[in-house]
Amino acid sequence: MSQVAGLREEHFHELLEQVREFRDREIAPFVIEWEQNRIFPVEALCSAGDLGLLGMEIDPALGGLGLSFGQKLKVLDLLSEVSMPYAFSLVNTHNVGARLARHGTEELRDRFLPDLLSGRRLGSTALTEPGAGSDFSAITTLASPDADGWRLNGEKAWITNAAASSVIVAYVQTDHGARARGIASFLIDGTGDGFERLEPYDLIGSHSIGTGGFRLNDYFAPEGDLLAVPGEGFAAALATINEARTYVASMCCAMVEASLRSAVGYACQRESFGRPIIEHQGLSWQLAGVANQLEAARALTGQAVTAIEQGDSRSAILPAAHAKKFATEMAEPALAACAQAMGANGLKEEHLIGHRLTAARVANYVDGTTEIMTERIAKSLPATYHLTPTAAKAS
Ligand SMILES: Cc1cc2nc3c(=O)[nH]c(=O)nc-3n(C[C@H](O)[C@H](O)[C@H](O)COP(=O)(O)OP(=O)(O)OC[C@H]3O[C@@H](n4cnc5c(N)ncnc54)[C@H](O)[C@@H]3O)c2cc1C
Repeated sequence: MSQVAGLREEHFHELLEQVREFRDREIAPFVIEWEQNRIFPVEALCSAGDLGLLGMEIDPALGGLGLSFGQKLKVLDLLSEVSMPYAFSLVNTHNVGARLARHGTEELRDRFLPDLLSGRRLGSTALTEPGAGSDFSAITTLASPDADGWRLNGEKAWITNAAASSVIVAYVQTDHGARARGIASFLIDGTGDGFERLEPYDLIGSHSIGTGGFRLNDYFAPEGDLLAVPGEGFAAALATINEARTYVASMCCAMVEASLRSAVGYACQRESFGRPIIEHQGLSWQLAGVANQLEAARALTGQAVTAIEQGDSRSAILPAAHAKKFATEMAEPALAACAQAMGANGLKEEHLIGHRLTAARVANYVDGTTEIMTERIAKSLPATYHLTPTAAKAS
């Protein structure tokens, strides 16, 4: 459940200022270099720990900042303006720390939380496998009981931060064919025997996410590293998915807003046929369309934030699906329209619009694809819009 109170307003404004300075000093100047040289920026992620950003939503008593969910999104928005891949990687390490802070045993917290908060170790959450993505219940990585613990075998794929992470919340099957009823989750130590890191993927525009996979070869997990017992892993994975869908929607809004600012600035300066191009209706209407879509995406995202902060994860399912579907579908054409308004200049890497376009593509897959969001909304139709006979007569 998300923390609602958060940091007091004046302290939060100070933090946002510090984040802006950090971003402009430690991230923005390097985004292009990271991408050109295919670098996963481990050190820059670690430095975010100095500002407390790896513990944004974690209780201050455990070393976190104690931000509310909405405040966390504002920080992620600032970072996403220059690099959504960086922000996404950061929040994925944060999520592992938050998971341990909320539900981990004292032993697990003592063992891993300080390193996750400082960035000495990065975190991942691993559901996806080479043969199972959207259909999460079809995972086949198997945990079998062993003396005082479990033996784990199988492969995870498409995992954020897997290029370097070593504190991993992994979802596994304990009973072949049992689907959701058999799923458990474990804390995997990526420095342990039986953990084999695989070569990370070359994803154009997204090297800063450090996406890759790993293999578990008879990896031994002691009983204390079991986070969700068999049968409870599926629900545990879904418990925070609405939050993830909502921050992905918010990141898309941030990327579009940053691009729209550049495009409007450019269109006010650049002239054609004797006047600034913003005065050509054909151009200004395109950007007005982007602004209109952006406002709608922001409004849907705001509704999801409110539902999440009210703390009832069931009532957040639909608002989060609406926000993610709308914002991710909005982002690519909106970013392309911003680039178009800047003419050929919009293609220059320094404006980052190309980077944001590839990040927006990624947003269509992570934490549930656009089709899975649509499916979620479709399933809700009878409950949301079905008129009972009495209601139908009255209308
Ligand atoms: C950069 C990146 C980072 C990622 N990070 C993580 C991570 O940290 N942890 C993790 O566990 N996973 C992660 N993923 C994986 C992501 O969650 C999966 O890509 C996603 O769940 C979809 O799975 P898939 O790619 O196997 O596609 P599939 O499930 O094979 O789907 C293929 C296509 O079919 C569509 N489809 C599937 N089922 C239906 C249906 N019922 N109705 C209509 N259409 C359907 C999908 O929407 C998709 O378009 C990441 C992916 C990327 C690209």
